[in-house]
Amino acid sequence: MDTAIIGGGIVGLATAYHLSKNHPEQSVVVLEKEDRVAAHQTGHNSGVIHSGIYYTPGSLKAKNCREGKRRLQRFCADRDVDYEMCGKVIVAANEHERPGLREIERKGRANEIDCERIGPERLAEIEPHVRGVEALRVPNAGIVDYTGMAEALADAVRERGHDVRTSAGVTGMDVRSSSGVVLQTERGPVEAEHVVNCGGLYADRLAEMSGAAPSVQVVPFRGEYYELTPEARRLCNGLIYPVPDPAFPFLGVHFTKTVAGGVECGPSAVLAFAREGYRFGDVHGRELAEILSFPGFWRLAARHWKKGLLEIVQSLSTRYYLRALRHLIPEIERSDLRPAASGVRAQALTRSGELVDDFLITETERVVNVLNAASPAATAALSVGEHIGERLAQRF
Ligand SMILES: Cc1cc2nc3c(=O)[nH]c(=O)nc-3n(C[C@H](O)[C@H](O)[C@H](O)COP(=O)(O)OP(=O)(O)OC[C@H]3O[C@@H](n4cnc5c(N)ncnc54)[C@H](O)[C@@H]3O)c2cc1C
Repeated sequence: MDTAIIGGGIVGLATAYHLSKNHPEQSVVVLEKEDRVAAHQTGHNSGVIHSGIYYTPGSLKAKNCREGKRRLQRFCADRDVDYEMCGKVIVAANEHERPGLREIERKGRANEIDCERIGPERLAEIEPHVRGVEALRVPNAGIVDYTGMAEALADAVRERGHDVRTSAGVTGMDVRSSSGVVLQTERGPVEAEHVVNCGGLYADRLAEMSGAAPSVQVVPFRGEYYELTPEARRLCNGLIYPVPDPAFPFLGVHFTKTVAGGVECGPSAVLAFAREGYRFGDVHGRELAEILSFPGFWRLAARHWKKGLLEIVQSLSTRYYLRALRHLIPEIERSDLRPAASGVRAQALTRSGELVDDFLITETERVVNVLNAASPAATAALSVGEHIGERLAQRF
């Protein structure tokens, strides 16, 4: 085998797709521990096609989001994956939020993203139930079925004669610089010349397994959602976002139309006590101990404990969650909400307590480690997959 890719999320699959399309002489296998692809972040996200407006100009996120979005639309149109470019508004609900909105507009223009500053009257035409002093209208954003897209990527890889192997968790790695890598998996050993680690919530652990010493730890942040009842869906026409807190790489709870016809509200950002901790009560002793013994966690907590507590309160109380939603749509009532499935973000944290803002991809002689592929990595996947594939191709 030439390349083994660990992780059947959208980043691993997009990397396999790129290699199978542009380096057809190379053999590729994707190894996924679950019995299906897209079982974690890719299948538990907001389903938004991000425009690329928020990201620092010149960053990997900025470059790959724009290009990835373009390719995503072409891929989904070709492969009949549901998507819709419904557009979005980012809303300054009060005067305090106006400077933050202007900063997003500045970044958006630097990233060459089509956006228009609008006042309350125009906002009321687009989203009649939203209240704000000013907003940015971003037409080139949308929604997509990311699980469907991941399945279509896996199909395309298989059609080209490669293997996407599920129930094949990687449990060990023996990296021999002269003769490649032997991976132990739940379905037997796999030998490969090169390995790409797209393990999402376990990417740092897999990097350690390969003998690397990653400078970051993946910290799981659960995103909890509600959905609007069918009668309340009239409150939202497209995508409605607040001005995010610039101290965090999360976008704040928002309203998202889904391709299935519903409207989701969320996600929050609560520290999870297990890497795959989808519910508040999910606790994994060893994984929690790893977080608590990482110096970066306490540095982060010391700076942002108030925000962390608020997220926990919101997680436990619909009343507080509702307060965040009313910031954008004041007329929303508790009876308009139903709890919905949650997702867990894999967010890299440095030892000094910084949440890594950009994508982070490192390399050793035989292994490429994708250590931070946080949002908008689903939007950007086809471009990130090319980026990883071409870094690898230099070794072929
Ligand atoms: C709540 C939430 C909302 C989000 N909203 C958006 C959005 O609207 N738009 C957007 O662009 N992005 C969004 N994101 C981010 C996006 O979902 C992720 O950036 C993207 O899915 C990352 O893909 P991935 O392939 O790196 O990770 P994953 O999808 O998590 O895939 C990693 C895979 O590795 C597998 N794995 C782990 N360990 C092993 C092992 N030992 N052996 C084999 N396999 C292993 C896992 O089972 C998993 O399937 C959101 C994320 C979350 C959690």
